[in-house]
Amino acid sequence: MAVQRKIAVVGAGVIGLSTALYIKTNLRLDGIPCKIEVFSEHTTPHTTSDGAAGLWEPIFVQGTPGEQQSRWGGETFEWLRHLRVQEDAGEMGVAQYSGYNLFHEWVEDPPWKDVVIGFRYATEAELKDVKFPMRHGWHFTNMSAQANRYCGWLLKRCKQQGIQFYRRKVLSLLEFAGWYDVVLNCTGLGSHQLTSDHDLIPLKGQIMKVSAPWIKDFTLVNGPDYVAYILPCTDFVVLGGTTESGRWDSDIEESVSYNILENCSKIMGSVKNAPILGQWSGLRPYRKTGVRLEREILQSKSSRAPLEVVHNYGHGGSGITFHWGCACEATSLAYQALGLPNSHHHDHDLLYKTISTPVDSSFCKL
Ligand SMILES: Cc1cc2nc3c(=O)[nH]c(=O)nc-3n(C[C@H](O)[C@H](O)[C@H](O)COP(=O)(O)OP(=O)(O)OC[C@H]3O[C@@H](n4cnc5c(N)ncnc54)[C@H](O)[C@@H]3O)c2cc1C
Repeated sequence: MAVQRKIAVVGAGVIGLSTALYIKTNLRLDGIPCKIEVFSEHTTPHTTSDGAAGLWEPIFVQGTPGEQQSRWGGETFEWLRHLRVQEDAGEMGVAQYSGYNLFHEWVEDPPWKDVVIGFRYATEAELKDVKFPMRHGWHFTNMSAQANRYCGWLLKRCKQQGIQFYRRKVLSLLEFAGWYDVVLNCTGLGSHQLTSDHDLIPLKGQIMKVSAPWIKDFTLVNGPDYVAYILPCTDFVVLGGTTESGRWDSDIEESVSYNILENCSKIMGSVKNAPILGQWSGLRPYRKTGVRLEREILQSKSSRAPLEVVHNYGHGGSGITFHWGCACEATSLAYQALGLPNSHHHDHDLLYKTISTPVDSSFCKL
């Protein structure tokens, strides 16, 4: 009988949940017995991920090479496109939107322009629709996963796959040495402390949520010293936003909300009449040197065996945007750490069907 693999995932934001689900699904398809346990200080709906609008777009990941942005982002984009037409897409908050990125000056085309659908430049007339002096713009069709809904769906599916969850703060990854075959570190900003990674800093962002069901398209305005955006989601429209480097508090500031509303009303006047549903701020896990997705072997000072770790953190403003592509790569690295031949189940239809079939039901009927 095959040996049961013991895997710990630390962190239960969008990265931890998707990584746990991806590796579990691959091991299940390969018929490899495993026990996967997730340890996290906070869980959905109380993680940073839950507050994100969930629009697909690589942002605040300057240290991550364009090739990786397109690969991880492209994989995630196609996964979300696949989910969009499934019967539980509403529950997940996954939908497709068209809209604009507008700029006060000319900018290079993004490395991901062939990932999104129908990328083109905004016309002069479109640039004049907003009350900001915009000189250049992109229009394209994009995917979105309203993050609190999507994380709730991931958590439910993880549990149906037999993944177990424990609420606790991990003080050192070496706590797992000798007990687990591999640990996946998906702690987001928590890695600043957990791995003493000082390249990882918070980028604080504050947003508002309003009820404006008439707004169907997204707009992001990039000025010389301001950013404003309107992002429709399943249950609300997100108005943003701010980016403050190095602030560790999540305080909501009324003056910031006032500015957000003023700026967004220059994009679409009607937001001023939209009932306010809430305000939120969160800390993006920004890593100056890019997303950390790699293996590391940690050696405990005690006599215990070395610990295989796969790091998957530092996704900046792109955790939703990269999550599935990163989960795929983290799974490959975990397979290497486990001494298994490379994982190879990436077909979205097969993954979705497997994820949708609880472990104790008749999996063999798939
Ligand atoms: C205002 C705002 C808007 C955003 N909008 C978007 C968007 O539209 N699209 C997009 O792609 N991204 C967006 N983002 C970015 C996105 O939210 C992050 O990239 C994403 O949440 C990172 O996911 P994560 O799972 O790594 O981190 P988190 O969601 O922070 O999860 C980290 C997990 O690790 C746990 N943890 C940490 N340390 C420890 C420890 N020591 N022990 C145990 N558990 C620990 C936490 O409790 C939590 O469960 C936005 C962010 C903000 C702030």
